[in-house]
Amino acid sequence: MKTSSDTYKSTCCYCGVGCGVVVTKENNGRLSLEGDKEHPSSKGMLCSKGMNLHYTVMDQSDRLLYPQMRLNRSMPLQRVTWDEALDRTAAVFKTLIKKFGPDSVAFYVSGQCLTEEYYLVNKLIKGFIGSNNIDTNSRLCMSSAVVGYKLSLGEDCVPVCYDDIEEADVFYVTGANPAWCHPILWRRMEAHKAANPQVKIICVDPRKTDTARSSDLYLGIVPGTDIVLNNAIGRILIEKNYINQDFIEKHTDGFSLFQEKVFERTIDEAAEICGIDAKDIYQAAEWIGGSKGFLSLWTMGLNQSVIGVNKNLSLINLHLITGKIGTPGNGPFSLTGQPNAMGGRETGGLANILPAHRDVTNAIHREEMETFWDSPVKIAHKPGFTATEMFEALADDRLKAIWIINTNPLVSMPDINMAEKALKNSRFVVVQDVSNLADTVHFADVVLPAAAWLEKEGTMTNAERRITYLPKALEAPGEALPDSEIIWKFAQKMGFTDAFNYKNTSEVYDEYVKITANTNVDVSGVSYDLLKNKRSVQWPLAAKKLTNNETIATSEEPDIILSSAVGTKRLFTDHNFYTPNKRAQIFAIADENTSEPTDENFPLVLTTGRIRDQWHTMTKTGRVTKLKQHIPQPFLQIHPKDAEARNITEGKLVVVKGRRGEVRVKAQLSEDVRQGLCFLPMHWGKILGSNLGRANNLTNSMVDPRSKEPDFKFSAVEVSLY
Ligand code: SF4
Repeated sequence: MKTSSDTYKSTCCYCGVGCGVVVTKENNGRLSLEGDKEHPSSKGMLCSKGMNLHYTVMDQSDRLLYPQMRLNRSMPLQRVTWDEALDRTAAVFKTLIKKFGPDSVAFYVSGQCLTEEYYLVNKLIKGFIGSNNIDTNSRLCMSSAVVGYKLSLGEDCVPVCYDDIEEADVFYVTGANPAWCHPILWRRMEAHKAANPQVKIICVDPRKTDTARSSDLYLGIVPGTDIVLNNAIGRILIEKNYINQDFIEKHTDGFSLFQEKVFERTIDEAAEICGIDAKDIYQAAEWIGGSKGFLSLWTMGLNQSVIGVNKNLSLINLHLITGKIGTPGNGPFSLTGQPNAMGGRETGGLANILPAHRDVTNAIHREEMETFWDSPVKIAHKPGFTATEMFEALADDRLKAIWIINTNPLVSMPDINMAEKALKNSRFVVVQDVSNLADTVHFADVVLPAAAWLEKEGTMTNAERRITYLPKALEAPGEALPDSEIIWKFAQKMGFTDAFNYKNTSEVYDEYVKITANTNVDVSGVSYDLLKNKRSVQWPLAAKKLTNNETIATSEEPDIILSSAVGTKRLFTDHNFYTPNKRAQIFAIADENTSEPTDENFPLVLTTGRIRDQWHTMTKTGRVTKLKQHIPQPFLQIHPKDAEARNITEGKLVVVKGRRGEVRVKAQLSEDVRQGLCFLPMHWGKILGSNLGRANNLTNSMVDPRSKEPDFKFSAVEVSLY
């Protein structure tokens, strides 16, 4: 949103908190940036990454400037025109589709993509090519939470809002380190606690993180025992009569089986399995049970697991048996990893869904979209390849071509040596990116330069369902184009001229919001004009039935809508859930972990994660000097006793070996990791770093059977001195 001649309001494009920023073009041509005090999510605050965001667009030394291609990978990439690059790509796609069918091609996209970009790729491949082969790096991040919400609440929806932080008196932070990874939400929690000392923070994590250190109660569980702990807390809540019988009877199903399940283990047994004191489990349950506002917050520690969906369900259960959901300060809050993971899903950005969270396996949903798009093909009835499946399919030639947009899978995918081999041996790879630091560029047949943040307009949805508009403030360098434009130009080359005949992204957005009408994620009342005027709104926000039961269509009385619409802060205030019978489902969850087993050769568990000042694969943050100063190199965090048993001392170079590969990094001895556990940061790849510190050389491609999210937090390894 442009506020004056040289000042623009936008949104930070790193994590799902979605903080507001104000960017000013200075007279000397440089940019300055500060937090947007009027932004309701962040209230002017920014973390170290956000504060340095403008440097990533001022430094253009790594930018891809022109389309490039080569006829075979032994040749260097050569500059070509947009027409040449897209004509060739369209010719290859058409040939493959004709010969091998529509499922021979795929798009792998990113939670960094804007909503309009996500929508267009989905429309193209699902509605016009006839395959559901589009998935996103959000699969590696949020998909277990998505399935957990759908199964328990009937919809992929975060039911809370950030203002619930100031209403809560107990925070249960589990498998997350918001002090480093969602810092602005953490600052709000800290400020709330400072003003209200009775507020309690419970942190569950096998690693003693900065979040754990600031907590009132730290539960340093054995990796993979989250469900044992949540079930034990559930048992105590029942035994101590903290459950809400009235809520359970009126608004839920499944309580009796849950009760049977959680009584299968005593609290002492649970404590032993989790490796913590039973009294701490009682304490956590007492605080949760006695709270007025119980907010649970989680990320990858629950999601990135072979039992990720069950971990999510076991946590949501605690809200459902206590009725602590849908009221101020209460609810399960999955902290979205990426800035637009949620917006992407709203447009159908996973291999198993269609726009507005429709399901590809639902014939009525498919027909609705075929009619809306006037599709020349039938939408495929089975889900496409998910993220890890795409690379497995490339490896055995079931998939012939992949188009990778704004993500760097050769750093971020599990079992990365397999993914690298798959890409190397694949028939046709298109890489659409901002930066030549993406490791994938080296395997590309066609490289398409994309416009970066501030160089294109569009929308994103943050972790509290808040949609914001991001303005274009800068011209993209060279011949780089907005991702939306690249996709609609390509679709026209494929012959879908009328359906992709857009003049701007506003037209794309207007088309997308129409198909959300009357769904749970109805944003038919949201337009660019509304977003520019109101700065942001939360979904749902229908074109009709705005605030105070107004029944005014957008087209009839736009001024009234602009003055009143803000969307929906929290969901389920009436305790009617999105399930067919409007009752939430409580699940009896088995507590076994089925991760990769350790043995005498690989006795340690490796977990991977983020460091404070880097973002994902570092193609942006890795170029900012201030951010590199925090932790400049990869390291292995290992418990002193595990190190001593291996003659490892602080700072020594060690080899971490697993069943799929190895890395070589310096050892950091710390009691912050449990004995038997070690930790590697996830950020370093071959280009920014070297193969030696690439954590995903070691991770495995086991996935949760329902969410298809990989088990990044649990791989068997051994460590020795180099
Ligand atoms: Fe950006 Fe997230 Fe930091 Fe906010 S908390 S400034 S969205 S990285």
